[in-house]
Amino acid sequence: MKKILFLVLVVCVLPCFAEQYKVLRVIDGDTIDIDYNGKRERIRFLNVDTPESVHPDKHRNTRLGKQASNYTKKRLSGKYISLEFDGDKRGKYGRLLAYVSLDKNNFNLELVQKGWSPYYTKYGKSQKYHDPFILAQNHARLAGENIWSSPAPMPPQYRAATFPTKSKNIATGLFHGNTSSHKFHGPECRYFKCNACTKIFSSKNAALAAGYSPCLLCSP
Ligand SMILES: [Zn+2]
Repeated sequence: MKKILFLVLVVCVLPCFAEQYKVLRVIDGDTIDIDYNGKRERIRFLNVDTPESVHPDKHRNTRLGKQASNYTKKRLSGKYISLEFDGDKRGKYGRLLAYVSLDKNNFNLELVQKGWSPYYTKYGKSQKYHDPFILAQNHARLAGENIWSSPAPMPPQYRAATFPTKSKNIATGLFHGNTSSHKFHGPECRYFKCNACTKIFSSKNAALAAGYSPCLLCSP
């Protein structure tokens, strides 16, 4: 028994928890504080910009900003995340600029896919995830999620985001992978927007290549 436990520790726990950082506080939808090797560091998520919720100018804070903040709080508070950098490691305010991963899922992409943020390119396009960001944004916009829902006022910084035309190609070109069951769904499936369905594939082959199998219900 002891031997098995030891093996489990060596095989899984050590590599699995390598470079994992505890989230100390969620500041708003796109900013968190973490314990970075014993030092408190502020992380600004790369290529996302959620609506404001704690801006000193209160007029800039919106209901959507509060909701985006709550979403990030719900997902990341107290969790262990990993970081991935892309170009400059620090921004002009000294904050670390990074992609944040939770259980190996890119949370920056998740925010865009759920419509809490546009694909934000004011400070440059994503070098590592440009295409996934575009797909995620297309999905959110077509689905009318959150910042893309029609009654939502569109803050000026989102107007520059590249908008896809509503074509059937885009809608049917997306598949969602369930990160826990490793099944993938087409847009018509009732599980397409399931909570764990955060992995986006641009094609069926991409999903298969990533080790996902087609859902039996929607058989994409
Ligand atoms: Zn399905």
